[in-house]
Amino acid sequence: MKRSFLLAVVAALALNAYTAHAAELSPANQAKLIGNVEAYAARMAEVALKIWSLPELGYQETKTTALLQDELKAAGFRVETGIAGIPTAFLARAGTNDGAVIAILAEMDSLPGLSQAATPERKPIADQISGHGCGHHLFGSAAVAAAIAVKNWLEETGTRAQVRVYGTPAEEGGGGKVYMVRAGLFKDVDATVYFHPGDSNSAAQEKNLATTSAKFCFRGQSAYAAAAPERGRSALDGVEAMNFMVNYMREHIPQESRIHYVITNGGLAPNVVPDFAESYYQIRHPDPRVVAEIFERVKKAAEGAALGTGTTVDHELINGTYSTLPNDVLGRVLDANLRRVGAPKWTTEEMAFAERLAKTLPGRNLPPLASAGEIARYQFNTQRYSSTDSGDVSWVTPLASLRTATWVPGTAAHSWQATAAGGMSIGIKGAEVAAKTLALTVAQLATSPETIAAAKAEFDKSRGPGFVYKALVGDRPPPLDYRNASAVGGGE
Ligand SMILES: [Zn+2]
Repeated sequence: MKRSFLLAVVAALALNAYTAHAAELSPANQAKLIGNVEAYAARMAEVALKIWSLPELGYQETKTTALLQDELKAAGFRVETGIAGIPTAFLARAGTNDGAVIAILAEMDSLPGLSQAATPERKPIADQISGHGCGHHLFGSAAVAAAIAVKNWLEETGTRAQVRVYGTPAEEGGGGKVYMVRAGLFKDVDATVYFHPGDSNSAAQEKNLATTSAKFCFRGQSAYAAAAPERGRSALDGVEAMNFMVNYMREHIPQESRIHYVITNGGLAPNVVPDFAESYYQIRHPDPRVVAEIFERVKKAAEGAALGTGTTVDHELINGTYSTLPNDVLGRVLDANLRRVGAPKWTTEEMAFAERLAKTLPGRNLPPLASAGEIARYQFNTQRYSSTDSGDVSWVTPLASLRTATWVPGTAAHSWQATAAGGMSIGIKGAEVAAKTLALTVAQLATSPETIAAAKAEFDKSRGPGFVYKALVGDRPPPLDYRNASAVGGGE
């Protein structure tokens, strides 16, 4: 008994040691990958700052996507563009077809109203309406840098695997990834990773909210509101009756839900019974299936409102994204590699820039500037109340992400302070840390079938049995004009 137990323990320990060993890259391979990123780092900085200086809005990223694609083509990637009905989307592949397929996401769009010079005081750039206030110029360039480093390493070592870059446009409300997932472009991917700029260094894997949004258009009969009201049927009554019913419904939906609405058209004059009125709804919940269920009930409220007011109603789906399904196995690999690479180190000039910029940050209890030089504790599964189109990717392939300090601690995303730090060396240093971490992680996953198997097992368990992906946007085409002045954007 004793002897066999001892043998079992020894065998388990040996297996453990083997698994841990097999999952890690050798120090020589790690050094090669880091060296490959360093060899490309100056070019990465050039590309990132060029994209920063020509900030393009969602689905209009023509110059940005061309810059990223040119880098990948020059490095020997096979690049497909115009995929999923999106002119600025692309898929770049390198490596072989007989091994693991590891993908990196590359966002690229900017934000309206966040034009800003790379200065620690507010200074919009003249004649520029948008800016990289979410750091997607670093997001895209770091993804490309990591992919090129891995591609060269695959060739140097004769490793059989494929590295991909997905150029995913219009994250800021256009949902580019949703349409790319719906088109089946991630079907044969084993694992996906990405980096998002931030004000700290962390590989925490968080949950957020699935969301769907739709416009409800009511149509009635116009009439002189004073002299002939009996001839009119008010479309605005339809909108208000619907809101009334939905507001009662709030008591009878799952706790974590959120429902928001605005009236985008309520008629034009009080003396005319409105024959057209429109409301714009958005629903959120951690589980996309619950979002879909609540949306069905909201549609019933709209139908009931139309019936009761003698109007008609139809709806248009605007946007819809899944919640993020966090993956602990991949998250821990990213965390270990982030610690291996280490946090960015600022020079005295960079620290002086940060000190001046920090004075402009609103709010109290800001994190200390020194936290940009540290790596935050690993966390898993904390609930956040935002939404992003990366969520859809996480329900079709195991996905994990990291943040690095590309901004001064205390900086909020979508602020001029984010645009400012992202346009100078602080942003670039953070992106380089991210590129190295991604390169190590992709290479490690490409050579570690047991890690992929564990990530997939966790992924299957999180999704639940019998899951079939169904886009929350239904079959609507990508809203390529959502950033045009006349179009109503579907923000996250
Ligand atoms: Zn972003």
